[in-house]
Amino acid sequence: MNLDLRTFIHDVKDYPKPGILFKDITPLLRNGPAFSECIEVLATAVKAFGADQIAAPESRGFLFGAPVAARLGIGFVPIRKKGKLPRKVRSITYALEYGTDTLTMHEDAVEPGQRVVLLDDVLATGGTMAACVALVRESGAEVTGIGFLMELAFLHGRSKFDGIPIYSAVTY
Ligand code: AMP
Repeated sequence: MNLDLRTFIHDVKDYPKPGILFKDITPLLRNGPAFSECIEVLATAVKAFGADQIAAPESRGFLFGAPVAARLGIGFVPIRKKGKLPRKVRSITYALEYGTDTLTMHEDAVEPGQRVVLLDDVLATGGTMAACVALVRESGAEVTGIGFLMELAFLHGRSKFDGIPIYSAVTY
């Protein structure tokens, strides 16, 4: 790695609510060399996992999943909030700190036996990514790895993914 990606991830206190230290990635996105470096390191990790497709949850997962897929010449599958995909979907409802959320994926987006790598910006509690893993597995595909720009290790999210290799470009 040539650039220290940490210097492009800024802390914003008490956003979106008091007590949360929000990791702002917009300084990284607006810096060409840093964004490019980030796509490059994620692409290297995805290649090592082995993938026929990349899937990612909206919306910040798209910022990394789609360019990495294009970089590697493989397909990209969007995982979206309820009501956003036009055809038949698989859906999963999972617990948030307050309430629940539902994620959906087109039923035919990944095929049985395909190798899928999931990408997102942040691994926090792991709830979002665990829901994505369940959706992909329900299709009969194999999740060969999971990648993040950053991991908030003190939240122990990786304990939700026994047996799945995890890559994080930056760890806090
Ligand atoms: P979790 O399901 O708890 O692992 O949360 C992961 C999702 O929430 C990711 O898609 C992130 O975009 C977002 N997220 C969680 N914590 C933070 C944080 N401290 N700063 C920025 N985004 C966060």
